[in-house]
Amino acid sequence: MSFAPFELIDGNKKSGLLLTADHASRALPEAYGSLGLEAAQFDRHIAYDIGVAELTRKLAARLDAPAVLGGFSRLLIDPNRGEDDPTLIMQLSDGAVIPGNYPMDAQERETRLNAFYRPYHDQVSALVYDVREESGRAPFIVSIHSYTPVWRGKARPWHCGLLWDKDDRALRPLLEMLRAEHLLITGDNEPYDGALRNDAMFKHATSKGYPHILIEVRQDLIADNAGTDQWAARLAPMLTALNQLPEMQEVQFFGSRTDPV
Ligand SMILES: [Zn+2]
Repeated sequence: MSFAPFELIDGNKKSGLLLTADHASRALPEAYGSLGLEAAQFDRHIAYDIGVAELTRKLAARLDAPAVLGGFSRLLIDPNRGEDDPTLIMQLSDGAVIPGNYPMDAQERETRLNAFYRPYHDQVSALVYDVREESGRAPFIVSIHSYTPVWRGKARPWHCGLLWDKDDRALRPLLEMLRAEHLLITGDNEPYDGALRNDAMFKHATSKGYPHILIEVRQDLIADNAGTDQWAARLAPMLTALNQLPEMQEVQFFGSRTDPV
């Protein structure tokens, strides 16, 4: 059976909105076994973003939005890193060597780029292009991720976080909508900073002047059906409202905090 490096969900391209889910899958082609790790490692956040495939499918359905979901584990190659990033193929996880990734020669690296990473990004690029053509406006790109509730022994207080670089067109109104829910703690560039050179948002949005936002949801909140239902119901109307703002329909270059000075 052939291995699909992405899953494409069809939707209305005329609205201008599209979804991506870089870390939706923990799948590996058979030839890679489990990269020498115990199979149980593939149930963990190190292999994929728990809950994100389900949440993204539900959002796509509610919004009638097209979506591209990554089809391979980030342990194979990480689609949310630049090709030149040293963590593109993780060689260590939790301090232990990943046998299937170490040592990594240039040929195997190129094989993984060509078989998984580039087909995924080519599909995202193609969808972004189609949405722009069909909608006649700047596409609004929403990237869905999730994070582990405890990192290095420390509990993370945020229920969700919005990651961004310099383009705050989607950030400001979405942060306001989420913070209006008083029981919800929403991080602003937490638990990570959204400015990462050549990452997926940089490639498809920042460098093109397209409005975008990266939404991180804490994994324990979307680990089951009820959780993904609740978050899809919460986020869908917010994304619809954002997508209709006039400033979201313009191509506008903000640059990146990672730009050389
Ligand atoms: Zn992720």
